[in-house]
Amino acid sequence: MERINAWTTYSEDDVKKVTGLGERYKAYLDRSKTERECTRETIRLAEKEGYKDLCKVKSLKPGDRVYVNTMGKAVQLFIIGSEPLEKGLNIIGAHIDSPRLDVKQNPLYEDSDLAYLDTHYYGGVKKYQWVALPLALHGTVAKKDGTCVDIVIGEDETDPVVGISDLLIHLSGDQLQKKASVVIEGEALDVIVGSKPLKDAEKDKVKAAVLEILKEKYGIEEEDFLSAEIEAVPAGKSRDMGLDRSMITGYGHDDRVCAYAEVEAMFAVKGTPKYTCCCILADKEEIGSVGATGMRARYFENAVAEIMDRCGCYSELSLRRALTACRMLSCDVSAGYDPSYAEAFEKKNAAFLGRGVCFNKYTGSRGKSGSNDANAEFMGRLRAIMDGAGVAFQTAELGRVDKGGGGTIAYICALYGMEVIDSGVPVLSMHAPWEVISKADLYEAVKGYNAFLLNA
Ligand code: MN
Ligand code: MN
Repeated sequence: MERINAWTTYSEDDVKKVTGLGERYKAYLDRSKTERECTRETIRLAEKEGYKDLCKVKSLKPGDRVYVNTMGKAVQLFIIGSEPLEKGLNIIGAHIDSPRLDVKQNPLYEDSDLAYLDTHYYGGVKKYQWVALPLALHGTVAKKDGTCVDIVIGEDETDPVVGISDLLIHLSGDQLQKKASVVIEGEALDVIVGSKPLKDAEKDKVKAAVLEILKEKYGIEEEDFLSAEIEAVPAGKSRDMGLDRSMITGYGHDDRVCAYAEVEAMFAVKGTPKYTCCCILADKEEIGSVGATGMRARYFENAVAEIMDRCGCYSELSLRRALTACRMLSCDVSAGYDPSYAEAFEKKNAAFLGRGVCFNKYTGSRGKSGSNDANAEFMGRLRAIMDGAGVAFQTAELGRVDKGGGGTIAYICALYGMEVIDSGVPVLSMHAPWEVISKADLYEAVKGYNAFLLNA
């Protein structure tokens, strides 16, 4: 039962729409290289669509649009429906953090006339992929006086970039004998940020010169690193890939491609939907959904409570009923089938680039451990919704049985007793500095998520 390639079904007009969406997505991705930037960009777009900050809204009625900003690192959008909230919300939820290298709290040092920033990698990375490529620094420095300085270095064409060195092939005999998991070790991921000494400095002359630049350009002292969140990410913009421009290569498709599909699907809901629609963009998924901005925190539940309060229907019991009655797509990328690594997949149950938005009934590893196994009845209803809206979709597992595995935010939302299933865009080279998606799959995801919001 093979699914068809969505491109074969497109009219000229469809291809134009797919292309336009690809352009908007690349612009979003390029402005959203960290969870903070992604939150800011999403709110900027939402405000243009008439969404208001829930904190500033005293009462709500059907058709109203609001957003909740969680510490500047996560965001939820809501459209109030005509049905009572106790009947549940239609939720689409993705994550907006991506694997990267986080600058340590005491990072700056000098060795052999080179200045470095020491890092601790974030999320699952093949460390050897992060050397010998241009990196940019994105982040926020919180100063003692309460002000914050936002930093982006390495994205403008005239900016300098930073980077991590690799050993030259001529001397790599020993290195190449090592296992790939240790060929570059975590502590070796230190970013080179300078090599020019400050003449008058007493010691650590290169480090001193870097500090002088930071002071001059950003007003930052060495001690300010103690209260900073600076992320080293691949420098440069996302681009079309393939001679046919059918794909996009970029940093952070996992999971901003689903985040953006959600945002467009929400914006495509016009007027008042039947059930209240909700788009969740969560932080910290790549390290286990922990912390105050990760999905395990209670901000989503609290936001629903605040919304019920503004709609005049809050009680503890009504809130419990609303959360349990929800229907949700946990929107996260899926492993795209890769013919070069065929042995990692089981072809009948793999997601193929171009064959549409993917549903994963379960993920997990070693006997589905750690997965959210969605109900057959829910998947049955979704098939009807997707077919009804003409959405190209496919189903997949994350690789062959016992090959590995992974999780998403699905199991956390399932704790409320709601119906939830994983659904996302297939990705090649997932978690690599440059990942690849098909524009057709993004297009089908937007269509599928919108159909879900309107019909689930
Ligand atoms: Mn993900
Ligand atoms: Mn991931």
